[in-house]
Amino acid sequence: MWFTDRLVGAAVAFTDATEGNLAAHTGEDPADVAAHRRALEVELGLADGSLRYMHQVHGTDVVTVASDGCASRATAREDPVADAAISEDGTPLAVLTADCLPVVFVAERPGADIALLAVAHAGRRGLLDGVLQNTVGALRERGAATLTAWIGPAICGGCYEVPEDMRAESGRVLPGVDTETSWHSPGLDLPGAARRLLEELRVRVADTGSTRSDWCTLENTELYSYRRDKTTSRHAGVVWVPSAFEPAGKETP
Ligand SMILES: [Zn+2]
Repeated sequence: MWFTDRLVGAAVAFTDATEGNLAAHTGEDPADVAAHRRALEVELGLADGSLRYMHQVHGTDVVTVASDGCASRATAREDPVADAAISEDGTPLAVLTADCLPVVFVAERPGADIALLAVAHAGRRGLLDGVLQNTVGALRERGAATLTAWIGPAICGGCYEVPEDMRAESGRVLPGVDTETSWHSPGLDLPGAARRLLEELRVRVADTGSTRSDWCTLENTELYSYRRDKTTSRHAGVVWVPSAFEPAGKETP
């Protein structure tokens, strides 16, 4: 497990290669993926089949995911086509990445027992098109008061080389995302741009290592990188309500 954190009533994790590939439909044996997903649920103390994934398409749609009450590996269930998901009932959520930016959110709602949870998949396209703004907006529409975001491991600005015209176009849409790689070619800094964007939206960005080079998927072989390996493997950003959590007012002193 790459990283874990807790906030009142919610927990956050980012997996690495230790948990194995968690992406279905990328070519790996479905039985292996199912085994990895089940092992992750066990590691996090989650019920069998309860962790919900998305069918990610580099878009900006936000879906609300709820427990279907029959979570089971035997149940055929389509993942929603979306790049961000919100759970209002504590349903655990996962976002899959290998270079793109995973962002996990926890929002406190006054008067509610369970925190709002959300995940977003912010690659270059999604970040520029507003997937993070859409996610934050949808959380606020659902009553989010204080909002915290965790930026997970992704390719860093020093490694993410792009053509000059792509850098220029990206910088026009999202000033500051344009940068230079460590070998002085045109680059994009997705983690840095996401942090600034979230802070401008008055979201508290939790302290992760996302600004450090060991959090760079391309540089650290404990993490999956599509650019480095053309891999079909993806790790996950996960947010859930720990089972030990008792709603406010019911905590044992
Ligand atoms: Zn890097």
